[in-house]
Amino acid sequence: MIEMDGIVAKMKNQKINYDRVLKKMIQQWERSEERPKILLHSCCAPCSTYVLEFLTQYADVAIYFANPNIHPKKEYERRAYVQEAFIKDFNERNGTNVRYIEAPYKPHEFMKMAKERGVTDEPEGGLRCTACFEMRLDMVAEAAVKYSYDYFGSALTLSPKKNAQLINEIGSEVQKLYDVNYLPSDFKKNKGYERSLEMCRDYNIYRQCYCGCVFAAQAQGIDFKEVNKAAQVFFDELEHNETTQS
Ligand code: SF4
Ligand code: SF4
Repeated sequence: MIEMDGIVAKMKNQKINYDRVLKKMIQQWERSEERPKILLHSCCAPCSTYVLEFLTQYADVAIYFANPNIHPKKEYERRAYVQEAFIKDFNERNGTNVRYIEAPYKPHEFMKMAKERGVTDEPEGGLRCTACFEMRLDMVAEAAVKYSYDYFGSALTLSPKKNAQLINEIGSEVQKLYDVNYLPSDFKKNKGYERSLEMCRDYNIYRQCYCGCVFAAQAQGIDFKEVNKAAQVFFDELEHNETTQS
């Protein structure tokens, strides 16, 4: 399977443009008539929209929902539900076969990691986020080996709020620990983020108002009672719609 290291080595003395690296990789897949299997991390549906539209042209993709960082549980369940429902809808509309795989939800492991690494009080975008990316990329790499994928990667490089350079650097390091290749990306390029907003409107996708962890939410003044209430209303409406349709 084609690795990113050979392509990056030719880009001497340049800030790495991970979008270009991915495009070159895709050209090589096309030349060798390969259609690789990719396991891609996502933490809610919005980032996965354009990413799936783009990648499914060239590869068989599965979304790995591995997010022990998300707090509270009801909000986690809402984001997981919306992610899976979007994939189902996307497959029906596009004749694709994107899979959804969910890791067991273990929030205490995220809390333990954040405390042990002393990053609970970091601001959003600081060392806590670096540790959070490491944890989740490690989970997706491990799962990619377990389920025999050719690549593991992250949909999060679509978000303008996330440091794509950092995510790619962590991915390149994590791939050294596992027998699977990292898929470099910068999905916000080529108007990827703008397209994701259009797709969110088109598919009527819930967009969260905080990244996920308790620390960032508290810093943002998020009221968890309101978050739980909104999630409960969401699930109640779903149940009501299912009952009235059956
Ligand atoms: S980066 Fe933000 S918008 Fe993107 S998948 Fe994660 S929580 Fe959702
Ligand atoms: S703000 Fe988001 S990326 Fe940063 S630690 Fe919290 S959940 Fe993870």
